[in-house]
Amino acid sequence: MIEKSGAITENFLAEEFRCKCGCGVILISEELVQKLQQLRDHFGTSITVSSGYRCPIQTKNVGSDSSSPHLLGVAADIRVTGHTSKEVAVVAEKIGFDGIAYINDNYLHLDLKGRRWYADERTGKTFKSFQPAARTLKQGMTGDDVRALQQALADKGYFYADKVDGKFGNITFGLLRAFQMDNNLTVDGICGPATKKTLGI
Ligand SMILES: [Zn+2]
Ligand SMILES: [Zn+2]
Repeated sequence: MIEKSGAITENFLAEEFRCKCGCGVILISEELVQKLQQLRDHFGTSITVSSGYRCPIQTKNVGSDSSSPHLLGVAADIRVTGHTSKEVAVVAEKIGFDGIAYINDNYLHLDLKGRRWYADERTGKTFKSFQPAARTLKQGMTGDDVRALQQALADKGYFYADKVDGKFGNITFGLLRAFQMDNNLTVDGICGPATKKTLGI
């Protein structure tokens, strides 16, 4: 637990996690702050902490109870500048936060309370995962998953490393077919589960 003041990671000050009731107490998990820094590094834009540590008085003030991870110093409500809470939740899950909940479209609750809890606080709805379902990749699509496909092809000598751009065009189509042909896959230029498995993506 961090109880000091000043810089605690490259981009976070201990004061940002101080209890808001006026008591002046800062008590925050080092691991939580390290993971927030990872989130900051991923997006490369500032993170606003609206609530970090909450002392017993502040816990009552906000209508919460003794089970609140904020009271234990293992939670933060945050907003990443320029990104929705939905976008941030996907990355936060990969980074390994235990509790992730939408507060609204921009603010997200994150904690390390040791129990997996993915939810929307507005509706009480819970989620198994925030990750989008894997798509079958076809010509005309764009995205990080197409980029991963191109990179995997490049790693196996079937794509040009300098042409990895996340756009599934003619070149990707043609070279994917070549990869499929050489690996006894259906030669259709479509990247479905079997081709993904062989590519290791
Ligand atoms: Zn307080
Ligand atoms: Zn919270």
